[in-house]
Amino acid sequence: MEKIYFVGAGPGDKELITLKGYKLLQVADIVIYAGSLVNRELLDYCKEGVVLHDSAYMTLEEIIGVMGEGARADKLVVRLQTGDISIYGSIREQAEELKKLGIDYESVAGVSSFLGAAASLGIEYTVPEISQSLIITRIGGRTPVPTREDLRSFAYHQTSMAIFLSVNRIEEVVEELIGGGYKKDTPVAIVYKATWDDEMTVMGSLEDISQKVKDAGIKKTALILVGDFLGDKYNYSMLYSKYFSHEYRKASDQIDE
Ligand code: SAH
Repeated sequence: MEKIYFVGAGPGDKELITLKGYKLLQVADIVIYAGSLVNRELLDYCKEGVVLHDSAYMTLEEIIGVMGEGARADKLVVRLQTGDISIYGSIREQAEELKKLGIDYESVAGVSSFLGAAASLGIEYTVPEISQSLIITRIGGRTPVPTREDLRSFAYHQTSMAIFLSVNRIEEVVEELIGGGYKKDTPVAIVYKATWDDEMTVMGSLEDISQKVKDAGIKKTALILVGDFLGDKYNYSMLYSKYFSHEYRKASDQIDE
């Protein structure tokens, strides 16, 4: 019996799938892809005769049904999901159902959209002395967020944040973040469809971002990036400093010449 491959499709740009994911798509007999977010151009990598299923129209039972049938017939089944499967990937329930059926699976990492968005903006989430932590979170929706993880409590840290699945409720997000401790002039970037051809970025601060998002008409497929890492203040890291020694390099005043 074949195992199932869960593959991260990357954020959108069809070249941002890993080589491993690409190679699996080339040989897959069956691909179950998340049609609401996965770039369909990725399916061009598949061989002729591949059987495609768009999971947007399927229930968990139907998805597992296709996987089970494929695995039992020794077909190579790829489950293709957006970004990386470990972030809001609804992977756990699929994995548990497969375990019940005695079907093995393997996961292939993908480039998550928060990484694609950072690359598009050319920014670093961890600017020395500005912020050294990144919080990945969302506002509660149909899937509730445990109360100990509410945005307001995370805001206390005033560190870098990448907020998924929340742009349709930007006003509440802003209220929670300011209520929790971020200053009103904290920079915010909204990245819509990061790395896609129709990517759009809206820059602002907590004070004006809600209006800007509304004006731009962005309601989904966007990340809310918040924090001073987007601002003008920065410090150089010690890593490449000529005054700093480490395992591979001595500080310039220590180099024997
Ligand atoms: N596993 C995915 C996230 C799936 S949840 C990942 O690693 O990126 C879906 C949410 O992810 C969307 O609501 C949006 O907030 C975000 N998202 C996915 N692709 C995106 C993209 N290309 N640009 C911006 N946000 C994206």
